[in-house]
Amino acid sequence: VPELPEVETIRSDLAPLVAGRCITGVDVDPATLPLLAGTGVSLDALRSSLVGRTIRGLGRRGKYLLFELDDARTLVVHLRMTGRLLWRDGAAPVEPFERARLLLEDGHHLRWSDLRKFGTWRIMDDLAPLLARLGPEPIDHAFGLKAFAATLSGRAAPVKAVLLDQRRMAGLGNIYVDEALFQARVRPDTPGGQVPPAAVRRLHTACREVLEQGIANRGASFKDYVDGQGNPGSQHMYVQVFRRQGKPCYACGTLIERTVVGGRGTHFCPKCQPRPRRKGGSGAA
Ligand SMILES: [Zn+2]
Repeated sequence: VPELPEVETIRSDLAPLVAGRCITGVDVDPATLPLLAGTGVSLDALRSSLVGRTIRGLGRRGKYLLFELDDARTLVVHLRMTGRLLWRDGAAPVEPFERARLLLEDGHHLRWSDLRKFGTWRIMDDLAPLLARLGPEPIDHAFGLKAFAATLSGRAAPVKAVLLDQRRMAGLGNIYVDEALFQARVRPDTPGGQVPPAAVRRLHTACREVLEQGIANRGASFKDYVDGQGNPGSQHMYVQVFRRQGKPCYACGTLIERTVVGGRGTHFCPKCQPRPRRKGGSGAA
């Protein structure tokens, strides 16, 4: 499932290719209207919103790609589980599971393929309602330790669930949360408010570092993810715990365990990530 590093890799690949290009056509497989589910947008409305528009730029917020249009509206794309956006020559063969395409004036297509069909496209006049639901970006250096500690402070929910909550922090998903918790030596089921202050500090740094490493390695391709040209990333070769259950921890040799935290498969080293010693419920701040 694409997380911040995967979406950012696609954004940085596609941004220079699409910026300044006019959209000359939109094709959507009519059997794929889940693309538009819940958006209140018909295929005709999508087409009339996009055709003739020039893409000014391609941004990202959390796991959302933001195609900025020249009429100040935005095409907001969420890849969900298996969505892919591929830069292709117009003559290229149809992609496996291709569901939609944007035709661009220079003859290229942006092909949308989505095996599971959970991905969404929507046209937004105003991004404020979307942005209001998203917390800060962990890779933003302006998101300091104090603000990070405040997101955990007093929380009874497992620290992993807090980190996955896009309203508190935007962009982390299952892979990078497991990796950040390992790097910070924090057990994933520790209640957010009971993570000791020194560990909060380590975790703040770790969240940023694992995401930056993921971007540097062009994303993790465990299964479906490919970049804007259709190539896999390499971050999956560098993970420490994610999907390594039963294999020895690179740090201590103990076997990595898999459990479920907040409904999500969770991977951790029971020795490197011990339960915190309780000291009368001291907060994270
Ligand atoms: Zn270990």
